[in-house]
Amino acid sequence: DKYTKIYMEGTSKSRELFERARKVLPGGTTYQIRHFSPYPVYITRAGGARVWDVDGNEYVDYWMGHGTHILGHSPDFVVKAVNDAAYEGTHLGYPNTLEVEYAELLTKVVPNVDMVRFSNSGTEANMYAVRLARAYTGHRYVVKMEGGWHGGYDGLHVGINPPFEGPESLGLPAEHIKYTLVVPFNDLNALERVLKDFDVAAVIMEPVLGSGGCIEPQPGYLKGVRELVDRYGALLIFDEVITGFRLALGGGQELFNTKADIVTLGKIVGGGYPGAGAIASRSEIMELLDQVKRPSARSRSFHGGTFTGNRVTLTAGYTLINYLSQHRSLYEGFNNLWNWAREGLNRACEDHGRLCWVTGVGSMLGIHFTRDRPVNARVAYTDRINEDLYHLTHLYMRTRGILYMTEHMPHLLPSMIHTREHANTLVEEFKGLLSEI
Ligand code: PLP
Repeated sequence: DKYTKIYMEGTSKSRELFERARKVLPGGTTYQIRHFSPYPVYITRAGGARVWDVDGNEYVDYWMGHGTHILGHSPDFVVKAVNDAAYEGTHLGYPNTLEVEYAELLTKVVPNVDMVRFSNSGTEANMYAVRLARAYTGHRYVVKMEGGWHGGYDGLHVGINPPFEGPESLGLPAEHIKYTLVVPFNDLNALERVLKDFDVAAVIMEPVLGSGGCIEPQPGYLKGVRELVDRYGALLIFDEVITGFRLALGGGQELFNTKADIVTLGKIVGGGYPGAGAIASRSEIMELLDQVKRPSARSRSFHGGTFTGNRVTLTAGYTLINYLSQHRSLYEGFNNLWNWAREGLNRACEDHGRLCWVTGVGSMLGIHFTRDRPVNARVAYTDRINEDLYHLTHLYMRTRGILYMTEHMPHLLPSMIHTREHANTLVEEFKGLLSEI
């Protein structure tokens, strides 16, 4: 109550906006995960590691456009490049030089890929990647992880929240997910069982479970997945929409030295601009999309769309990734800083009767008020000490000028321009919260 009062006193304009918004935007938002209770703040401006709300409150942002802004909000050199490019056409709708250059760059920085196709979102990238895997293997089933979020595509919109089975949305017929199998993350036995029993086209997974709680793979797990997938003739799709260009320039494949057959990208790949997504793989798989080699539509796997290869997004993405590829050394300090912060947060949890666990790798941090350290999303959701702690933590942090998402599954995705001071403040504020609890 105390913090609800403080929050509401400081956010009266957001409250008014929420009331207006609810009349014209279902739930008062454009995406349900952006809601927090009793009402969200409405942001008017962002810059660097910060955002400002309509009441003039300033926050250190740990959401960073859903994990998009690896170099902070609106890096000057990216915005300038986009503005210059936009005057020469915002969307060309023809093959263009930039898509060639950007695809060449991506094949250099993303391991194990020869070719790329750009899509409009992470969701689309995954949708087409699944189709491509089915086309390549001739198999039907797709395996995903409990808690794995791959976007709103019907075929993957299952197994996200407990009980991790059945359609997760109204209007999604069970028939649309009958070829989707769900297993727990970090569980090779469960994976082997389904690979043995079904004709699996692909296992799609994040190398670090992202919005399912920022849960790291246990030692040997990803290697084990790779071996099983090979043994049973499936493909391994790494959804690197969050982990790509974050864990390392080459994403989870690079950090964990594990090869995927298809990599899907989103978020950072668009340099902070919308329409961000890509499917990347080796030639023998990508060849199935090739309309020159396969002139008949029925002999290809379809991928396309009006805004694919959009100039604005590709300019932003190319400019950003090119910068990162010339500053690879940034990753070491970036990972070290947030590993250090995670240790500090975990020490605080331990000092308070092991009230919580902070999971993840590098700049992916998950906060869990669970009895055991979550090794998968089932533990993260069902072993909770008290659901109210999640709400209180979010509320408390908001009143202390720290914003993260989501209220009920906290995952923090700081950028490279967040400083040691930011990390230190986060740890200290968290300690303050735990003392109050
Ligand atoms: N895959 C992962 C791992 C994600 O975190 C997300 C979005 O949060 C998606 C796919 C979907 O991407 P988009 O929201 O761009 O469709």
